[in-house]
Amino acid sequence: MGEEISNKQVILSNYVKTSVKESDLSLRTSKIQLKIPSGCDGAVLVKNLYLSIDPFILALMKNQELDLPSFTLDSPIYGFGVSKVLDSSHPNFKTGELVWGFTGWEEYSLIKDPDQLFKVQDKDLPLSYFIGILEVMYATENQRVSRYHFRHAYVGFFKFCSPKKGETVYVSAASGAVGQLVGQFAKITGCYVVGSAGSKEKSAFALMKVDLLKNKFRYFPDGIDIYFDNVGGKMLEAVLNSMRLNGRVALCGMISQYNSLEQPEGVHNLINALVKRVHMEGFFTSDHYYLYPKFLEMVVPLIKEEKITYVEDIAEGIESAPGALFGLYSGRNVGKLLVVVSRE
Ligand code: NAP
Repeated sequence: MGEEISNKQVILSNYVKTSVKESDLSLRTSKIQLKIPSGCDGAVLVKNLYLSIDPFILALMKNQELDLPSFTLDSPIYGFGVSKVLDSSHPNFKTGELVWGFTGWEEYSLIKDPDQLFKVQDKDLPLSYFIGILEVMYATENQRVSRYHFRHAYVGFFKFCSPKKGETVYVSAASGAVGQLVGQFAKITGCYVVGSAGSKEKSAFALMKVDLLKNKFRYFPDGIDIYFDNVGGKMLEAVLNSMRLNGRVALCGMISQYNSLEQPEGVHNLINALVKRVHMEGFFTSDHYYLYPKFLEMVVPLIKEEKITYVEDIAEGIESAPGALFGLYSGRNVGKLLVVVSRE
């Protein structure tokens, strides 16, 4: 029997029907033994250090079908995290190792099936980057890698937007986890890039001009060649009016539609896509793993040479997780949103 200590957890109180509220999640303190219980062969007991706050969590809180296990009522929810192994009955993991992958929203987790857990290999890099910009950097081809944590910005921008030097690029939610990278990729490619963000504070962080005059697109007097869409809805409709001939629209996400609308908003001006021969395509990064080596080839040197900046928005303590998640859907985050549960 190991030492028994308290374990703060974030519990799903009810499935979300329409808009997410902080009260859909609650905090509970339970007890956990710091030893793998007998009969749990192949399990790993971890102390959670960082938790990633991602848009897909709302879909699981709504019990929508995703290619992921559902959340269980009255139990801790889960997501991506960085953790330290405290005990292991799995041959691949040893006490003291740092890992990242799926873990519970709690201080300590007993992970019975660690097939979505990967070792942190390069300890010189910030640990939080393993659930942000670096993600699957060290996963091997044989490991199953989550569909949600491949580099959406890279796949979406380079594969679906086919950018060329000198083209005009617009990105929505430009200071967020995905948007901030799209903007930098566009700049590196030699494009003219403008992003939108929800506040002046965010525009100070975003590494491109930010059009706070919603839907006016005054920075694009000659129109937009490429739109990287993170929000959908009215923004997409407004952009379609400004697209140039043979423009490209990469549909990465539609966060404006996830939360409150039982009836999704319509896009009423699709005729622009026809008249301007716009190529508009949705994508899931999980379908494009073959681009992963190319992604590493480009991004790792850029990180090491500090030619890419990655802004993080870090909430302190497991207690802050429900509020932080709620903030993602109301645009409170500036950069990649995560929670630090413990710094060691
Ligand atoms: P993020 O941009 O860091 O955070 C979400 C941002 O969306 C908020 O900060 C806010 O920015 C904006 N937002 C929130 N609610 C909104 C609303 N009702 N209307 C308009 N904007 C709203 O999040 P992320 O993790 O980088 O994800 C960005 C998008 O990528 C999401 O749509 C997500 O679903 C999508 N995604 C797609 C894939 C894929 O494989 N295709 C994978 C992962 C994520 P502002 O305040 O600046 O508007």
